Amino acid sequence: MAQAATAQKPAETHEELTDGFHLIIDALKLNGVKTIYGVPGIPITDFGRMAQAAGIRVISFRHEQNAGYAASIAGFLTKQPGICLTVSAPGFLNGLTALAHATTNCFPMILISGSSEREIVDLQQGDYEEMDQLAVAKTMCKAAYRVLHAQDIGIGVARAIRAAVSGRPGGVYLDLPAKLFGQVMNAEEGRKSLVKVIDAAPAQIPSPEAVKRAVDLFKSAKKPLIILGKGAAYAQADDAIKTLVEKTGAPFLPMSMAKGILPDTHPQCAGAARSTVLKDSDVVLMIGARLNWLLSHGKGKTWGEPHSKKFIQIDIEPKEMDSNVEIAAPLVGDIGSCVQALLDAMGNNPPKAPSDWIGAVTKKKEDNIAKMAPKLMNNNSPMDYYGALGVIREAIKNRPDAIFVNEGANTLDLARGVVDMYKPRKRLDVGTWGIMGIGQGYSIAAAIETGKQVLALEGDSAFGFSGMEIETICRYKLPVCIVIFNNDGIYRGTDVNTGGGSDPATTVFVKGARYDKMIEAFGGVGINATSPDELRRAVNQAMDSGKPTLINAVIDPAAGSESGRIGNLNPQSVLKKK
Ligand code: ADP
Ligand code: MG
Repeated sequence: MAQAATAQKPAETHEELTDGFHLIIDALKLNGVKTIYGVPGIPITDFGRMAQAAGIRVISFRHEQNAGYAASIAGFLTKQPGICLTVSAPGFLNGLTALAHATTNCFPMILISGSSEREIVDLQQGDYEEMDQLAVAKTMCKAAYRVLHAQDIGIGVARAIRAAVSGRPGGVYLDLPAKLFGQVMNAEEGRKSLVKVIDAAPAQIPSPEAVKRAVDLFKSAKKPLIILGKGAAYAQADDAIKTLVEKTGAPFLPMSMAKGILPDTHPQCAGAARSTVLKDSDVVLMIGARLNWLLSHGKGKTWGEPHSKKFIQIDIEPKEMDSNVEIAAPLVGDIGSCVQALLDAMGNNPPKAPSDWIGAVTKKKEDNIAKMAPKLMNNNSPMDYYGALGVIREAIKNRPDAIFVNEGANTLDLARGVVDMYKPRKRLDVGTWGIMGIGQGYSIAAAIETGKQVLALEGDSAFGFSGMEIETICRYKLPVCIVIFNNDGIYRGTDVNTGGGSDPATTVFVKGARYDKMIEAFGGVGINATSPDELRRAVNQAMDSGKPTLINAVIDPAAGSESGRIGNLNPQSVLKKK
C-alpha cells in the first residue's frame, strides 16, 4: 500500500518539513528507545528501514509473537518499555498474545501496530487488513492509544511510555494508522511537539503508619518467611533486599524469576525446603510476589491450614492487597522505597529470626539437597531429566553471568528446582501464565539487551512454538545456546492412540527427531548429545565459542510425567474407560 500523503515541499517557500515517520522515530529516540523488535510489512516497512537508518537497532523476526515476547522481556530486564512493531490486523493479532503476556506478568512493553484507514475501517467497507485494532487491544493491556495527527505523535508516544512503566508495569498498545506516517508538518513545530517523559516511573513512598504496622508484625514472628517474586527482581533494588534478608536472618523463598536476587546457595535460601516454610511459617513478608495459583492462593494444605498465618505484602498496586486472603500489613509503594523504609524503621535493632526455626528449615533443606545430589550425577544414556540437569546446573555454576531461559513442562519444573542461580535477573521463564513459546524471543532479547551469553533450556514441544526464530538467532549471530530436552513428545514420548488406527497419539512427535540438524540450515552449530558427558562437552563448546548452537539432548521418552508438576490442574473424566 502506498504511503498516504506525499511530502511535497511548496516551491514558493523554504519551510523545513517533517513527517509522521520522522516524528515517531524522533519521539522514540528522545525517550531513549534503542531497540525495536518486530516484523516488517504494510504499513510499517519503510518505518523500520528509516528507524534503522536513524540509529535505532531494529531486530526483524519471523513471527510477531516472538518479537512481542522479546519486547516484553526487554522491558523486564531494563525497566524501559520494550518496543514491538507489527503490521495491521494479522500481525497485530500475532503480537497481541505477547502484549497480554506482558500485562499479566507486569512487564513494561509497547506494542506499536500500523493500522488501516480509519474512515474505511469505521464504515466497515473492507479495507486491506481491516480491523478496529484499538478496540480489540483494550482488554489485553494497561492502556491503549491511537494517534491520528502528526502533531500528536509526541504526546502519544509519551503517554504510552509513562503508562507502561509507571505504577504496576504492563503492556500498552499504540495504534498508528497508515496515513499518519506520511502526514507532513513544519519541522520546527514538529520538534516542539515532542515530549521527553520526565520521571516516567516515580518513586512511590509507603506511609509511615504502614511501615510501622509491617515492622511490628514482622517483630512478632516466631517463624518468619520472606518470599521474593519477580516484581522484586524487576525493581532492581538488589542491595536493599539483600540487606533486609540478611539483617533479619529470616529464610527466604525465591519465586522462579526471583532466583538469584540472592544466590540460591545462600545459607538463608529455603528453596529446597519450600513445602516446610510455606506450611510452618507464621509471618510471611511478600516482596513483589502475588498470592495467585503459583502460591496456591495463600490458602489450603500448602499453607498449613487451619493456621493463624499473617501476611505482610509489598506491592506497587494497591488493588493487589487482599486479592486472595487478608493482608494484615499492606505496604503499598515501590519495592526500593518500601524495603528501604523497613530497613530505616528497623534501624540498628532489626528483628532476628529465632534460631530453632532457622535450624528446622536448614535441616529440612540439607536433607532434600543430599537426596537430590546422587540423582544429578548419573551418566545414564538415554538421559533421564536429572542426569541431564546435573550438566545444566554445573554450566550455570561455572558461568553465573549467563542468562538462563527455560520453558517446557518437566524441563521447566525440574530445572527450576535443580539449576541454582547466582545473580539477579538471570533466570527468564514462562512466567505467570506458564506460557509456551517464549524460548527464542526471550533468548534473542536477552542477548541483545545484556550482551551476555544465553543458555536456553527447552522441552521439544516448547521449542516448536518459536523454533523458526533460530534463523533470527543465526542472522544476528547471537551468543545463544539452545538445549532441547527431546523426549519425543509432550510430557512423554510413549503415549499410544487408544482408538486404534494409524494416527499417532495426540501427545507424541516424530521419534528420534534431530532438532540439531535444523540450525545447520542457517549456518549455526548443531550437536546431538546422548549422554550427560556428551551434553557437558557440547554445552561447554557452545558457551566457549558464543556461536549460535542447538543441542539435541536425547531424553528417555518414558522419563517425564503428565503436565510436569501441575498435573493436578488437568480435569479428568470420571467416565473414562480403562
Ligand atoms: P511471581 O510470579 O514471581 O510471584 P508476580 O508476577 O506474581 O511475581 O508478582 C509481581 C508483583 O510485583 C506484582 O504484583 C507487581 O505489581 C509487583 N511489582 C512489580 N514491580 C514493582 C515495583 N517496582 N515495586 C513494587 N511492586 C512491583
Ligand atoms: Mg517433551
